[in-house]
Amino acid sequence: MAEFSVIDQYFSRSLLQDEELGVGDDSALLNPPSGQQLVICTDTLVAGRHFPLDTSAHAIGWKSVAVNLSDIAAMGAKPHSILLALSLPQVDHDWLAAFSAGLYDCCDQFGVHLIGGDTTQSPHLTITVTALGYIEKHQAICRSGAQVGDYVVVSGQIGDAAYGLAHLGSRLQQRLDYPTPRCELGQTLKGLASSMIDISDGLAQDLGHILKASHVGARLRLDQLPIDPLLASLESEQKWQYALAGGDDYELCFTISPQHYEKLLRQPLNISITKIGEITAQQDLSFEYQGQDYPLQLKGYQHFA
Ligand code: ADP
Ligand code: MG
Repeated sequence: MAEFSVIDQYFSRSLLQDEELGVGDDSALLNPPSGQQLVICTDTLVAGRHFPLDTSAHAIGWKSVAVNLSDIAAMGAKPHSILLALSLPQVDHDWLAAFSAGLYDCCDQFGVHLIGGDTTQSPHLTITVTALGYIEKHQAICRSGAQVGDYVVVSGQIGDAAYGLAHLGSRLQQRLDYPTPRCELGQTLKGLASSMIDISDGLAQDLGHILKASHVGARLRLDQLPIDPLLASLESEQKWQYALAGGDDYELCFTISPQHYEKLLRQPLNISITKIGEITAQQDLSFEYQGQDYPLQLKGYQHFA
């Protein structure tokens, strides 16, 4: 494969400054701001597994960046750059042009640079992005900090992407194809949220990771869940399945003390947030609806299931 011409043509834009180095040498060079920690994560998207095979190349490019920036946001960090490891079945110029446009659109929207990667041929389209960001020392928001009495809060709407996947062609397919990483909110939550995670596998499962890491439980109010009118019109079990067990929303779920929550509400936010429950000493996840216990059986998306 014409590996170098693919890199030159589609992935070699470089806007780094101050002796930093992007695509083109053996490695990239960055100048980490002093006093800050490097935050780093990686996520792979496999065609047919993480997105439907007929997803547009532009959306695949966008999403492969967005899901990683979401992980950076979930630490409270500021994203800086990404690396792209791309395995392609063939060199399809129309596909590559649209893919790189989608990838750079997401990078540009969040002020992120593509600084390197690898390009190989393989029978399966696979995209691995590694994202780098920075955060002041001791400021990262981990999963382990939730305290009894904290509120459980989510950004945006949940269940949209799962609904979009089940109803391709509906308005909510946009939320599946073009998730918005909540980079600004994540950084605003520094010094305020006690724990945080981004919702990639469904709220119940992802909140479960916070509960386990923090040795606490949570009680959620089903009537408070922020869901789209398309979901609200479904019967109960179905809408809660989407909202609590649907993956791919890339909203943030965080815990926050009541005092810090009041502070947060006084700040300008570019996305809605909704308080959906509280952290409990009893180490399980329970639900209520209109003030009554509401037992629910849910399944999050299980890899390798
Ligand atoms: P090496 O053989 O030294 O690993 P490569 O030939 O794989 O280097 O890549 C050449 C340059 O192009 C490197 O700077 C690498 O980071 C960059 N690069 C390769 N593939 C991609 C890609 N898909 N996106 C961005 N940069 C890439
Ligand atoms: Mg190489």
